[in-house]
Amino acid sequence: MAEASRTTEARRDAVFGRWVVFSPARSRRPNDLKSHNPTNPSPGPGEPRPSCPFCAGRESECAPQIFRVPPDGSLPWRIRVIENLYPALRRDLEPPPAAAPDAEAEEEPGERAVPGFGFHDVVIETPSHDVRLWDLPAEGVRDVLLAYAARVRQLAEHPAVKYVQVFKNHGASAGASMAHSHSQMLGTPFVPPSVTSRLNCMKEVFDRSGNCSLCDFRSKDILISETPNFSAIVPFAASYPFEIWIIPRQHLSYFHEIDQDKALDLGSLLKTMLQKLSKQLNDPPFNFMIHSAPFGLSSSCLPYAHWFLQIVPQLSVIGGFELGSGCYINPVFPEDAAKILRELGCSS
Ligand code: AMP
Ligand code: ZN
Ligand code: ZN
Repeated sequence: MAEASRTTEARRDAVFGRWVVFSPARSRRPNDLKSHNPTNPSPGPGEPRPSCPFCAGRESECAPQIFRVPPDGSLPWRIRVIENLYPALRRDLEPPPAAAPDAEAEEEPGERAVPGFGFHDVVIETPSHDVRLWDLPAEGVRDVLLAYAARVRQLAEHPAVKYVQVFKNHGASAGASMAHSHSQMLGTPFVPPSVTSRLNCMKEVFDRSGNCSLCDFRSKDILISETPNFSAIVPFAASYPFEIWIIPRQHLSYFHEIDQDKALDLGSLLKTMLQKLSKQLNDPPFNFMIHSAPFGLSSSCLPYAHWFLQIVPQLSVIGGFELGSGCYINPVFPEDAAKILRELGCSS
């Protein structure tokens, strides 16, 4: 359908089960949508460099290193995985006692308090202050993804860690406090509620249709780009304008099992998608999140647990309707956003 003839529509997605109201009347044309809050992490010419502990040479100002790439300390590092100096959850606290595998369902309802045990790590994606993730060659983005996967595999070994959320904040209004390109991960001793509700929603779809919600998406109209192993789409019921999901084309439940070849493929597609968003939306603040399966998921759940990477450009502030109802209003139809992003040229 042509952009001009679209009329308001509510859609529910098959992964989070969320309703989204598509209301083209609430915005200018999709092509005019730009960030009013672009993030330029680089100091301008002649401006003083900010004091930044993530820069090469400032390693002693950081919390302890977990590992680096390459591991050989006689070579300069390209990626560092370090502890967070101001962790949200603390690795030095007593972990909650090991519970039975089905304890989640049996847990008593109502208020509860436990020590804030967990792991909060930072991935410094480059030694250079001015280099953004999508400025790296595809091989560089691959190595960042492989560093995430290696650290998630380490955390999965801890008996008390149930889930690891990998995420990136870019730009102050996307929650970033540091301009130097980095991402983070939090290993939690519980399965976060949005992971549980995502899996419940995908289970319902699977039980009714026999299909995984992410193995076959409905139409080519929401496809932006495809590689041998991944599809980049604007999801059918995107909560945010120009939201992108990068989905493995093969049914896979765990991000951290990714191999070198798939990581290169994903690195190249992620780089292209971030370049496209930057070009189309004026270097917007954004978040990305890797949605994987909780550790030790029973084999009966694996047929509907399909991991993916979600990119959310932050173009507007969440208001009372969204906070109150959990429903989002998106002024840009996914098919229109996908067409714009599909046709946008990007040099690699
Ligand atoms: P963000 O706030 O999303 O930009 O993420 C940056 C993270 O780096 C924050 O969670 C900080 O707590 C953490 N951080 C800041 N300075 C340091 C440091 N010197 N060493 C380790 N982590 C740090
Ligand atoms: Zn820096
Ligand atoms: Zn699937």
